[in-house]
Amino acid sequence: MKKTIGIMGAMPEEIDGVVALLNNCKTFSMGQRTYYSGQINDIDTIVVFSRWGKVAAATTVSTLIHHFNITDLIFTGVAGAIKDNLKIGDIVLAKRLIQHDMDARPLMAQFEIPLLSKSYFDCDSSLLNISANAINTLLEEKCLHTTIGDKELENFNIRHPKLYIEDIASGDQFFSSNEQKNNLCLQLPNIACVEMEGAAVAQVCYEYNIPFVVIRTISDAADEQSHIDFPSFIKEISSKYSTEIIKNIYNQLQHLNFMSKSKKC
Ligand code: SAH
Repeated sequence: MKKTIGIMGAMPEEIDGVVALLNNCKTFSMGQRTYYSGQINDIDTIVVFSRWGKVAAATTVSTLIHHFNITDLIFTGVAGAIKDNLKIGDIVLAKRLIQHDMDARPLMAQFEIPLLSKSYFDCDSSLLNISANAINTLLEEKCLHTTIGDKELENFNIRHPKLYIEDIASGDQFFSSNEQKNNLCLQLPNIACVEMEGAAVAQVCYEYNIPFVVIRTISDAADEQSHIDFPSFIKEISSKYSTEIIKNIYNQLQHLNFMSKSKKC
């Protein structure tokens, strides 16, 4: 089946580099969003800035599914670290996503999504593998230093960034205190990082059977300092990460496409 990939970013600066990769770029305005459509490596692609929070993300992915008929979804953004081993500049690929602010007790268990009988949504295993390869390629010393200047890496104290494949929690809260962090850890000790959109996108994709993956660069430690230097981190680091990761993902997809076409011949 012919693919149409939706790419969502939670920051406008983050999608700018990805939009620049589109050939034959056309724009569509709907519901206060701008959707950019075109091709990357001949694969039909729609790129959009989702805005922040679960509702914004859910309505945007619904439009991608119904209006643009996407077959796959890639979400890239930033997140606050919950686990202590995560450093700014590390990348977390979601294994599963949960909505930490979903609580319909006593009607059902805490975190359970009403009428779905589940709390966690799994990312697609094949997109997960492709994304892990793409991220590992970016994080190789040589590629990292060509993508981002030494000065910028030093400014954010990024030395040997790592990829983690872990569980992510999403909710309509910006985490900016150790109290919020500790509270989440007590309730969900497996969570690596926190953000505001991923699990909402995951729920919609699950309901419509759209394979998806969520990629998050650690921008802050979700503590009292989490708002500091946010804009410059997005500009200097995470937007460059996103563009490079998307390029690497599409190179693999093009290769897989070529392999499946040559098998058919
Ligand atoms: N741009 C704003 C802040 C953005 S809101 C500013 O300039 O200050 C935060 C965005 O980053 C959301 O998309 C969310 O998913 C993610 N995020 C990063 N760190 C976060 C944290 N500590 N808590 C929750 N979301 C976080």
